[in-house]
This record gives sequence, C-alpha cells and structure tokens, in this order.
Amino acid sequence: MNQEKVSELRKWMSSNQVDLAYVSDPSHIAYFSGFDSNPMERILALFIPLEKDPFLFAPGLEVEDAKASSWAYDVIGYLDSEDPWAIIVAEINKRYGAPKKMAIEKGQLVLDRYQRLADAFTSTDFSADLTPLVQQLQLYKTEEECQLLVEAGSTADLAFEIGFKLVKAGATEESIVAEIEYELKKQGVKEMSFPTEVLAGPNAASPHGSPGKNTVKENELVLFDLGTIVNGYCSDATRTVACGKPTDHQKKIYDIVLEAQLKAQEAVKPGITAAELDKIARDVIEGYGYGEYFNHRLGHGIGTTIHEFPSIVGGNDMEIKEGMCFSIEPGIYLPNDVGVRIEDCIFVTKDGCIPFTKTSKELIIL
Ligand code: MN
Ligand code: MN
Repeated sequence: MNQEKVSELRKWMSSNQVDLAYVSDPSHIAYFSGFDSNPMERILALFIPLEKDPFLFAPGLEVEDAKASSWAYDVIGYLDSEDPWAIIVAEINKRYGAPKKMAIEKGQLVLDRYQRLADAFTSTDFSADLTPLVQQLQLYKTEEECQLLVEAGSTADLAFEIGFKLVKAGATEESIVAEIEYELKKQGVKEMSFPTEVLAGPNAASPHGSPGKNTVKENELVLFDLGTIVNGYCSDATRTVACGKPTDHQKKIYDIVLEAQLKAQEAVKPGITAAELDKIARDVIEGYGYGEYFNHRLGHGIGTTIHEFPSIVGGNDMEIKEGMCFSIEPGIYLPNDVGVRIEDCIFVTKDGCIPFTKTSKELIIL
C-alpha cells in the first residue's frame, strides 16, 4: 500500500467528514493499494475507512495475486456464482458499521454499482466525490514514481529503435506495429499503454489515425506514437522519421514542430503556467502560418494512466510545480499531405525538466 497517498486521502476524508472511501477505478486502486489488475466486467474495489484497516475486494481468481502484491491488509474474494454486492455490504457492516458519508468516484463509478450501495445504505450521504481529489494527488509524482516512469520511458525508446529498423518502402503500417509489439513482448514488456500508432505519409496528418494496410513510401515521413506500461506506470512518446530523403516541404514542417517542441520543453520550470507553455509552442507554429493545423492541446499529465492532470492547454492557469509529469507534443497536420508530431513526457525538477524518453529528436532519415 502507498502509505503516503493513503494518508493524504485520509486527511481529505477527515476535513470532509467522510468515514469511508470507495475507490472503484482499477488504476486508482493500483495507485493506493499497489495491486495492479484489470478486472474487466468483474468487481475490484478498495474500501478505505478513516480510522480502521482498509480492505480490498477482488474476483476470487485474483485473490492470491492481490495477497502476493504489496497490499498488506485483508483481501475478500467472491465467486462468479455469488452476488458481490451482498458480500461487500456485509463486510462494510461487519467492519465499520453503516457509513455516515461514503466518498465515491463520481467520474468513474457506473450507476448500477452506485445504486447497489445506495439501496443497502439508505441513510448514507454519497455526496463526496473522490475524483477531483485523486486528480489532485496524481498531479505530483514521488521519486519512486518518477523512477518507474523513467523505466517505462526507456522501453518506449527501445520500441522506437525496433520500429525505425523496419521503416522501408513497401512495409505496411500494421506490419511495423505488429513487429514492434512482438519484439517488446519477447523482451518482457507485457502491455502497451495504448494501441501503437505507425502512420505513413498523408495518413499521419490525422492526429488519431489508425495503422492499416497503407504502405511506407520513399520520400515520406512516418509517425510513431507509442507507449508501454511498466510496473503500472505508462510511457507515451512520438517521433516522426523520414523514409529516404525528405522533401524541402516535409523538412520545413518538421523543423517548425521541432522548434516548437524544444522551446516549450526548455521553458518548463516551476512557476510557469500550463497555458503559458501551450502558448510558447503555439506561437512558434502560428509564426510560420500553420496555427490552424496544430489542432490539439500541447500536452497531458502521465502516470498510472495515459491521460491525467495537468492538462497543458490554453486557458489552464495552473502553475507548474516540481514533481509534475506531462507530455509536450506539438504537431502540424496538413490534410492529404504530411503530419508531424514530436512528443516527450517529462518530469519537472526544481529548475527545469528531464524527459523520460531519450530517442533523438533530430530528423532521422532511414
Ligand atoms: Mn500524449
Ligand atoms: Mn502520444
């Protein structure tokens, strides 16, 4: 269990008169408990009371894994043939009595699960929302968390190394994706943090295009956006490389995005705001007349999930502080022509930032 995070949670519970917190998002359960699992449609739940010992509730087939994790308290299991809510309600009653005020994750808990609790605890107040608190806690990463993000970053670098070797005219996007993930799996990387994107030529002009039978062609740019999960922590990075000699036009677009990415990354330090960082990158791209083709925010926080706080976006006056981790990912997408994005995730130090990925950002010609 992450004692530091749980005591932050309890501080919040105490000042909001919450006597029981129900953590329902599996990535948040991993965050507090150290037990990382995807229960699919089954129920995984973490109950943390203000004072007594917490307990973890898990599908029966995961109980042993949960006990073997860093979670040191009780794990209650259920069989597929049992009603999980009857067991949960009985456990809560037995351990703590009916809660006066139970905090739930309003941004995540689905209605029928909430309803089962509300039906069982008719006098409990469910008004307290855990979602903003978890977002707030996740803004700042500890040194140990940064270390896990560094490890995830280095496997993303490895993925680029594997992928770049496969760039040649005639290769399909999907074959490159398959090779990257196959090689990573052989090397012990169990999971990607999102579906790997390899997009060639005009296909890369769609910021969330999907790789298919499209082939890489000579004198085209190829965009790689990928990430891995290592010990529950994610990486996310983008590089755009050239197959053969790039045209002057492609080179020009690349250089603008690179200038925007480097300027924003160099400007990261405690005290600057998220909106100011977004503007630094946007000003570069607008200065060259391509502002309308940079059609997404500059970045997003990263941690146990791929998108968390802070959001690096215009209008967000949140001050950047030491320990925050987020992406810097400007792009230019010219429809039916060329797409370039360059992305590093970084952690903020006391006077600057350090990227999790080290793959060169100079235009690599393959
Ligand atoms: Mn990203
Ligand atoms: Mn990305």
